[in-house]
Amino acid sequence: MPWKAIADPYRIWLSEIILQQTRVEQGLPYFERFVAAYPTVKDLAAARDEEVMKLWEGLGYYSRARNLLKAARMVATEYGGNFPDTDTGLRALPGVGPYTAAAIASFAFGQQVAVLDGNVFRILARFYNDLTPIDTGKGRKHYQKLVDMALGDASAKLFNQAIMDFGAMVCTPKRTRCSSCPLAERCGAYAAGTVGDLPLKEKKLKRRTRYFHFLVLADGEGRTIIEQRSGKDIWQGLYQFPLIETEQPNVETAALASQQDWPEWLPATALGFVRRSAPAKHQLTHQTIITVFHHFTWAEMISKIKGKTILKHNLLKNHAFPRVITRYLEEKSLLLDLF
Ligand code: SF4
Repeated sequence: MPWKAIADPYRIWLSEIILQQTRVEQGLPYFERFVAAYPTVKDLAAARDEEVMKLWEGLGYYSRARNLLKAARMVATEYGGNFPDTDTGLRALPGVGPYTAAAIASFAFGQQVAVLDGNVFRILARFYNDLTPIDTGKGRKHYQKLVDMALGDASAKLFNQAIMDFGAMVCTPKRTRCSSCPLAERCGAYAAGTVGDLPLKEKKLKRRTRYFHFLVLADGEGRTIIEQRSGKDIWQGLYQFPLIETEQPNVETAALASQQDWPEWLPATALGFVRRSAPAKHQLTHQTIITVFHHFTWAEMISKIKGKTILKHNLLKNHAFPRVITRYLEEKSLLLDLF
């Protein structure tokens, strides 16, 4: 991994933010693209929001991209382009939690702090056969004490890298390699036969299902309408086709217009139905999103609608969309022709 042998806080921070909730293989090309486009934190701070969101497209968890920009701007304006060199200073940056701060502080600045990420929680809970849940404030403090003890006077830089690699390669969540593990003889969970049950969590993940109906509108001149997502919800800041969200699993296109959420600016009677896609399922961490794309012609499309962007459909590629939309457009070759 290109960031392993470096001590540049900008690259370490960038890689850590990209790798939050993202696998290394998926994150690596994004890291390379970001470093090529913005070689320094000042370059990133000066970038346009739209440009950064576009580069982030496909990586998901878009609040990370928004925080990335906020933090870069904070470092550029408040710290003169230099990252704070302490754990506490780093935690003041948007999007930088205890784990990321510890990683940057130890890897970039040689500070004596132990990281506590998912790998480390798992190793500690198993090695000590510890039943303390990892997802409570109390649990976090407890495991932080354990990892601090384990670090002792060792080099934090080496220890952190080693324990994370050990969690990624040996003490893995599934198919754990206990039979070749150098700690097996002293491992509590291995002796107790609880490896597969640890670590424990107190809160069960609550999932909800949402139904997104996107209205793909096109007039005779190849124009369509998009809107930017706002509010505290998924995909904040990204673009989408006008959306109607429903409680029902599968709303017929004809029935959509009678929904109370049908947009006021869109006269249902002026539309010509073309087709609708089969429902597709997209799994996010806490939500299942079912999407359906309803295609209409709107011959007399008005040219200005508050809060919407009307554009030639071949310009869609310049905007950042959630992956569900990009994939749909690409799969159906709709970036070339909407209908
Ligand atoms: S023996 Fe198994 S559970 Fe215990 S530390 Fe090694 S890999 Fe992890």
